[in-house]
Amino acid sequence: METLTDLTPAEVQERLTAQGLPAFRSKQILNWIYGKTVTDFREMTNLSKPLREELAEKWRISSLKELKQNKASDGTTKFGFALYDGSIIESVRIPMETGKQTFCISSQAGCAMGCKFCSTARMGLIRNLSPSEIVCQALHLRRSAGLNEKQVFNIVFMGMGEPLANTDNVLKAINILTDKDGMNLSRRRITVSTCGIVNGIRRLAREPRPPRLAISLNAADDETRRKIMPITEGNPLDELLDQLKRYPLPPRERFTFEYVLIGGVNDRDEDAAKLPRLLNKLRYKINLIPFNPFPGSGFLPPDPARIEAFQQILFSKNITATLRKSKGCEIQGACGQLATTLKKPRG
Ligand code: SF4
Repeated sequence: METLTDLTPAEVQERLTAQGLPAFRSKQILNWIYGKTVTDFREMTNLSKPLREELAEKWRISSLKELKQNKASDGTTKFGFALYDGSIIESVRIPMETGKQTFCISSQAGCAMGCKFCSTARMGLIRNLSPSEIVCQALHLRRSAGLNEKQVFNIVFMGMGEPLANTDNVLKAINILTDKDGMNLSRRRITVSTCGIVNGIRRLAREPRPPRLAISLNAADDETRRKIMPITEGNPLDELLDQLKRYPLPPRERFTFEYVLIGGVNDRDEDAAKLPRLLNKLRYKINLIPFNPFPGSGFLPPDPARIEAFQQILFSKNITATLRKSKGCEIQGACGQLATTLKKPRG
């Protein structure tokens, strides 16, 4: 059975027209899915019962099955979903100080990148997510937040997986999310976070309206970065930064560099001092994220005084450096930490 949310709205229209439906029916169905977040044909009450049954026989809307929700006291909610093959992925809904919500979604089940500070890396890569599996995380989270079609939200590809290792499906999902007959979200509200795959960034840069970009940096030199991010081999910092300089960054936007602070590994004064020199000529801000320990990681977060000293060095160079509050820590909110605690469903 095919999945409707794997298709762009134009493709949906084309396929349903070929099935004998008039164009206005496709618009109604798209509005149920993306306007009202309805994922069951039986709830589409302006369609006749026989048509609803016919559609349900041919098409599935979503293939995500919610397994678990963990809610923290700050309202951050982490979701575990089972896919049709029993793979498990996770998404996180984060209420922001601005009153808006940010949906952190996954692009792969597991991940092949092997970052040493990340528990998803332990799973290895299971498989790429389809466009539908990506889009339906946003649908599901929007519905769970009770947002209507006029209430905007942000999407960050910072869940499980490396989005630029699944670029075709991620780009198609972004097209569906931003289509006026899809979720009608502005591209400015979508951020792709990568561990720094140079070819993938080059490809993204060729898009007519590329999404925002965040880079998981975590070190100011190749030697330190190689110790915690094997991807550095083949994607050295000079090539990465050279490619970022060519990225079509809109005038008022900046790159975000994520920097997971790991005690005794990348949290020295000299690391902080090197960052402004390394990132020279780019418009950017830095998100400092104290490492969130997980069993067997072998790493610890720096003590609070070290974190403060690191941030102060960046401030002294006039760098915008925010310290990410531990939203979701108490609910295993760091990358991959929910999915690795969930068991595969039976059957
Ligand atoms: S941090 Fe991201 S890219 Fe690195 S292993 Fe984890 S999921 Fe993959």
